[in-house]
Amino acid sequence: MFDKILIANRGEIALRVIRAAREMGVRTVAVHSTADADAMHVRMADESVCIGPPSSTDSYLSVPAIIAACEITGAQAIHPGYGFLSENANFVQILEDHGITFIGPTAEHIRIMGDKITAKETMKNLGVPCVPGSDGGVPDVATARKVAGEIGYPVIVKATAGGGGRGMKLAKTEAEIERAFQTARSESKAAFGNDEVYIEKYLGAPRHIEIQVFGDGKGNAVHLGERDCSLQRRHQKVFEEAPGPAIDAETRARIGKVCADAVASINYAGAGTIEFLFENGEFFFIEMNTRLQVEHPVTEAIFGVDLVREQIRVAEGLPMSFTQEDLVINGHAIEIRINAEKLPNFSPCPGRITQYHVPGGLGVRMDSALYDGYSIPPYYDSLIGKLIVHGRDRDEALSRLQRALGELIVDGVDTTVPLFHALLQEPDIRAGTYNIHWLERWLEENLG
Ligand code: ADP
Repeated sequence: MFDKILIANRGEIALRVIRAAREMGVRTVAVHSTADADAMHVRMADESVCIGPPSSTDSYLSVPAIIAACEITGAQAIHPGYGFLSENANFVQILEDHGITFIGPTAEHIRIMGDKITAKETMKNLGVPCVPGSDGGVPDVATARKVAGEIGYPVIVKATAGGGGRGMKLAKTEAEIERAFQTARSESKAAFGNDEVYIEKYLGAPRHIEIQVFGDGKGNAVHLGERDCSLQRRHQKVFEEAPGPAIDAETRARIGKVCADAVASINYAGAGTIEFLFENGEFFFIEMNTRLQVEHPVTEAIFGVDLVREQIRVAEGLPMSFTQEDLVINGHAIEIRINAEKLPNFSPCPGRITQYHVPGGLGVRMDSALYDGYSIPPYYDSLIGKLIVHGRDRDEALSRLQRALGELIVDGVDTTVPLFHALLQEPDIRAGTYNIHWLERWLEENLG
């Protein structure tokens, strides 16, 4: 059993990990930048170490500073949360070399899945259905034109190193392919230092369905159903639910098994998410995330499991505490992401929280690092909280969400809460009939 783990992250996800560790009797070390000296994760951990100035490059992304913090405090393992170093294969390699356990998959698995072309090839070979597209990278405009012509327009040009919806460009017709190719390439170069791109068929009205998988690193793996994350703004999720309104038990069992078998066959360790676009009853793989997702609580709610506890157990070499048969869905869960942003432009809105009141009651969970008087620093992500509700069925979850939102008070900064009040009035949201383009259109019509 680990005595002590270090959490290489901040905000709500750092608290999430501290909570799981504490219930397991594992001590925790928080790391923080100078801007986060008063942050909740620093207060809640057993120990804390300041690892650098506000800029994340010099703090939360500084591998030497994080390793030094481990050595000073005697932490035996690192939980990376999501974002920051969570999918950085070099970081994991360095930890392996230093004898520090990474709570997550191997450097090799992160590397394979971090390169979207290799990930797609690997998944295809493991029997996972993929979006039709180029075989590997597309080196120049002439090839892009040729490949796009073969696939058929519209197509989407995507960065192989992509993430967070960046480096992705749509070409509706041949007239647009050159520009899409060049823009995707230069965006990708700027964001990821890698300009390799590939081309996929652009699906017109799919849903984003992702399968949660979990492996023990020894050839055993399970799936924990799907999450529907189709409500997106600029390819970023804002509202997630499980189970997916468009997925029935037979479909879930079928795609779930394909995913669990695929990760079992590569001895995958820990939590992973296999993302698909789902259209006309068919699944198309887009990418795999080799970490805990922001939206993991909806899965925890319907299966009654603690995924972080499970990650820590598996990193220690313990077996998983559930089998596929143990995993039975109970009810319906919804998560909304609350950002400190000003509508209608979603511009970041850091500042001091003058009043904070958390909703409560049956089936309500608020994951947030806010407190009265806290100053949200301007240097990081604008996510300030996740409100998760669980009900016996989807209707109950929706009513509960509306009720809980009514109780929530976050004063002092603008937030995206009004967006959710409005969305809950929409018949398509009530009915669960939406796809990945629904929210962009709604925003244009209602806030544009
Ligand atoms: P990232 O890693 O940047 O999040 P993804 O490959 O996961 O990129 O895609 C993010 C989102 O972009 C998807 O959820 C979907 O909304 C949209 N998208 C990606 N690929 C396609 C495609 N082939 N057709 C239509 N939409 C797509």
